[in-house]
Parts: sequence; C-alpha cells; structure tokens
Amino acid sequence: MPKKPAYFDLVITGGRVIDPANSIDEHLDVAICKNKISAIKSNIDTSNSIRVIDASGAIVTPGLIDLHTHAAGGIRKPSNDDFMVDPDVAGVSSGVTTVLDAGSIGALNSGGLINYLAPQAKTRLLALLNIGKMGVANLPEVKSAEDIDQASSVEVISSNPDIIKGIKARMVTPGITSLGNDMTRAAKTITNEAGGFVMVHVGDIAGQNPLAANLTRELLTSILGEGDVVTHTLSGAVGALLANGQLISQAKEARDAGVYFDVGVGGGNFSFESAKAVLDQGFIPDTISSDITAMSRFAGPVFSLTECMGKIISLGISFEDTIRMTTAKPAEILGMSDEIGSLSIGTKADISILELAEGNFNFYEASGATSKGSYGIRPLVAIRDGIPQSLDIGPHPWGWLPKRER
Ligand SMILES: [Zn+2]
Repeated sequence: MPKKPAYFDLVITGGRVIDPANSIDEHLDVAICKNKISAIKSNIDTSNSIRVIDASGAIVTPGLIDLHTHAAGGIRKPSNDDFMVDPDVAGVSSGVTTVLDAGSIGALNSGGLINYLAPQAKTRLLALLNIGKMGVANLPEVKSAEDIDQASSVEVISSNPDIIKGIKARMVTPGITSLGNDMTRAAKTITNEAGGFVMVHVGDIAGQNPLAANLTRELLTSILGEGDVVTHTLSGAVGALLANGQLISQAKEARDAGVYFDVGVGGGNFSFESAKAVLDQGFIPDTISSDITAMSRFAGPVFSLTECMGKIISLGISFEDTIRMTTAKPAEILGMSDEIGSLSIGTKADISILELAEGNFNFYEASGATSKGSYGIRPLVAIRDGIPQSLDIGPHPWGWLPKRER
C-alpha cells in the first residue's frame, strides 16, 4: 500500500527560503503542523495539507522581529496619542511577527500592555519598561531621581518575564543633566536583579548637550555589558557614536565586550550622512529596527520595518544581511532563539513572506535628505504561530514599496 503523505496544517511552496540562523538560502517548501515548523525541504507532498500558500517568486523568511518600536497604542491620553501605534500596525499588518515596545510604558503603567494589549494582539508583543516609572505618558520621562522606581521595575520584570524583557533608558536632556549615568546604572541594577537586558538610546536629540558625549563613553566602557543594547547606532546627534565624523573607540570596545548595536531608524535619530560615516568605518549594526510611532508610520520617514530595511540596503548592506538583522540577531538578543528568529524544526511557526522589488527608489530622512536605492521590500504575508494574518493597505497612498523616482 502506498504510504499516506504526511499531514500538515499549512505548506508554503516554491519560495526562496532565507534562514540566516541555519545558513539556508535556497528554494524549499516549508511545512507547519500544530503551530510549529515541522518540515523544510524541496517538493513536500501537499496532498494531505489543509492549506497551501504558493510563494513562487517570493522570499520566505523567519518572522521578522522589530526590536525597537512604540507599539503600545491607546495608553496615552487620546488627544496626544501620535507617539504610539497599535501593536498590529507595527506587527503582523506590516508583515512583522514580533515587536518589542521600547520604553513606551513604565513600571507603574505597565498593566495595560501586559494584561490587555499583549494578550489581544495578533502580533507577538514584548516590551522593555522605561526607566521612567510612567514611560512616555509624561515626557520628558526622567527629570529627576523621583521619576525612577527601581523596586516596582524589578517586581514587574520578575513577574512577567515572558513579556517584559528589560529596561529602556534614553540618554537625553533633562535626565542626563540631572542624573548623568546614574540613570543607566539604575537600569543595570534593575536587570541584574530581575533579569533581561538594558537598551540605551544614545544621542541627545532633546538638548544636543555636549555633556552627552562623555556620558556615552562612560556608558559604553563601564556600565553596559554582555547582552545589553545601544540603539540609534547611525544617529548624528551629540552623544551618539560619532565625534567629528569618527566612530568613538568605545563603541568597538563595547562590542568586544558583548554589547549589541541596533539601528532604531525613527525620525531625528538617523541621518544618511552619519550612517555612511559609521558604516564606512566598518561598524555594521547587529539589528535593524524601526522605532516606529503613529506619526512616523503615516507621515514618514519610517513608514514600515521593511522600508527601513530597504533604506539600509541603499547604504550598501546586502538584502540577505538585512534578513539576519531582523530575524536571527534580534531573537538572540531577546534570548528567544529556540522559539523564534529561525525556521528550525520545532520552533514557533512565525514566518514572513516578502517580495524583493527592483527599481529606482527614494528613501528619505527627517531632515528631508534622500538616498537612492535599487531595492524595495514589500511584505506579502505574516504567519504568526502558524496562522496567516492579513496585511493592511500600507503606509503610502500606493501601498508598501518605497517612493519610486519619476
Ligand atoms: Zn524609541
């Protein structure tokens, strides 16, 4: 009797599979059973599969992970809510399966995200607590030591390790003038006790205070350690990683000590000029993230994680590297490599299906400066825990791809 073909819930056929964690880049089929990756090989028999997605001509990757977002939409006062997007707007509706909210909430107002937003989102929503106890509900979030509640932060992280992954601190005015690195030391004290990692925003976009430069040097060599993250690696702001156009030596020292470097594109924390300076000196960030907010999603210059990837490709990073920087690497930082960030058999079936489009694309930064690129990435489908999710209509009037040159 002929052997009955294996049962699958879903098989994705014919796509170019790029799975950097497993060094795979070839045309393969991917099968899902019970929300997990159950097979990855060529010519999978789909006759006993409930659903088949034909990905011919498309790219199949582990579900994209956006390591720096503001995806706690709805928890700020409604008249002033442009700071944050709905988790699914940053997430599955944009082809991204996991988003890390980076400090929109603090320990004292974390309940809404933990109890309501994360369980209800179709996207895997994780978060870092802001070192400021009320998060960005009350900007600037840190004015004095009064704004930090270490004991509550420890309590929230320790009791919700599946959702809360550590602490975010922004080295900006006025916190840096009143507290200096006492702010980041407090963040380290919290994660040393509760677990997780510290993500620090470098670059004083709020005040451009020259003090920020020395604080960043101290931060990189004496405070952050293995597993911590610096975000806004390609920023030109005072206190970011460039001094007179030169990469500060402490950045390399920190990297050697195991500190990760994230892009966090955002608005004012990225410029093509500083990005080129950092990249030309051989300092390639570990992860690409969007730092997306409601405003930067619809009015730019962020638009989407996939557009941010295209922006980085326009600076000379390969498409394949941008996949690593949005899958395997952020999963490693989150300590979740055995669950997400790869297409390894038995891991959660989080998958992104993308189109790599060629053309003359224009990317731009907050100042209005532009960069021309030959590749744009369009999300096609996000699959979270084995369930295909629909995308929305995209951030531009024409959809998802970056603006084409006329
Ligand atoms: Zn941010």
